[in-house]
Amino acid sequence: MFTLPKLPYAYDALEPVISERTMKFHHDKHHATYVRTTNELLEKAGTTAKSLEAVIRSAPEGGDKKLFNNAAQAWNHAFFWAAMTAEPEKPDGGLAKTIDKAFGGLEALKAAFVKAGAEHFGSGWVWLAADRSGALHVRATHDADDTVVHPELTPLLVCDLWEHAYYLDHQNDRKGFLEDWFGRLPHWEFAGYQLAAARGEGQPWLHPAPEAEQTHARAR
Ligand code: MN
Repeated sequence: MFTLPKLPYAYDALEPVISERTMKFHHDKHHATYVRTTNELLEKAGTTAKSLEAVIRSAPEGGDKKLFNNAAQAWNHAFFWAAMTAEPEKPDGGLAKTIDKAFGGLEALKAAFVKAGAEHFGSGWVWLAADRSGALHVRATHDADDTVVHPELTPLLVCDLWEHAYYLDHQNDRKGFLEDWFGRLPHWEFAGYQLAAARGEGQPWLHPAPEAEQTHARAR
């Protein structure tokens, strides 16, 4: 059984970019439903999952699109929460240099990230990711698709492009949401750890492992 990860900050911590109201729907309803449905599908299939990453990687081979969609969305949302911070940060020296090399500076990366997200048609995610050489890329993926099934990429940051992520706060202004998001919410320290992991220094972020079924406590 996978558990809905707790938010690493208060529901209102990301205001005004993401309101408390959006966070409550997004985490407690949308994300919770993806986790619950993943658990139900695994239970129905009689499968014991070792990790959410393993579920996501094996679902397409089994032709199980519903399991893939729900498991990948559970992973993407947990990563999304982890890659944001309530306290605005700037990329540190090493990461800043890598950004300069790939994009010509943080403002140019912001422009590329916002453009990729704003121009992405329909639902999905926009990622800042590193390949195995540590080179940075901006990629948008459709619907539930994510970097777990693109093993050459390690994600540094992600922003949710589904309308439920921004519609209550920004209505149809996805571009405005992305600009505000990039200027305030990226957890650059986390992104720096992910970049090091992409280069083989340390482990990249992994979804919390499933918990064993709880056994009923015996009456004393
Ligand atoms: Mn979402």
